[in-house]
Amino acid sequence: MAERELPIHHRATDPGGRVWSFGSVTWVHCPECDHAAKSTGSSVSCAHCGYATIPSLKPYSDKWAYPTSSNPRCSHCGNPLDRRDRPTARHKEGKLFVSIRCDHCDETEDYPASPGSDPAASRPYRLLRRYLETQVGGETLWVNNLVHLDALEDWLGAKVRERGPQPGLTMMAKLPRWMKASTNRAKVLRGLAQLRERAEQAGIDE
Ligand SMILES: [Zn+2]
Ligand SMILES: [Zn+2]
Repeated sequence: MAERELPIHHRATDPGGRVWSFGSVTWVHCPECDHAAKSTGSSVSCAHCGYATIPSLKPYSDKWAYPTSSNPRCSHCGNPLDRRDRPTARHKEGKLFVSIRCDHCDETEDYPASPGSDPAASRPYRLLRRYLETQVGGETLWVNNLVHLDALEDWLGAKVRERGPQPGLTMMAKLPRWMKASTNRAKVLRGLAQLRERAEQAGIDE
């Protein structure tokens, strides 16, 4: 098998942006069939076996809420209350309240609240393993999608890397040192090429 030429070129400019601005999906292992499935953050779908989670049309359950006050205190004893989401919301005269029992004095009271969400609802997605992942010299090299892969290949393949117009910690600025080391360039590019091959085999198209 002929070695593909590594995409080493002269210079690249940091395109700016954080990791989530590269592409809009993350390819993960399908929880049903283990093939590549597309995760958008709010839903997961697998073209291979048809597995799909129904995207939540109502991101906020009406039962979950948290106290609106940035520094909520118990109206009985004055001790601070924590602001975590609770499944005890209710509407009274068109306003939302959440029922909280104070840890200090045990009194339960309704407090003005903002709509929250069930913290368990978003958990399953985080547990899904990323599909485009490989090992490079004991380190894990991963990309979310093809846009992310293209950007990394362009940046890490360049001999000269220039800061772009965007200040601060861009995705490129935050890459780990092993990935940016010139001594690792060939290894890292080979890893990215493997991920591209893996994507092609899996029918990943974005
Ligand atoms: Zn599947
Ligand atoms: Zn209290």
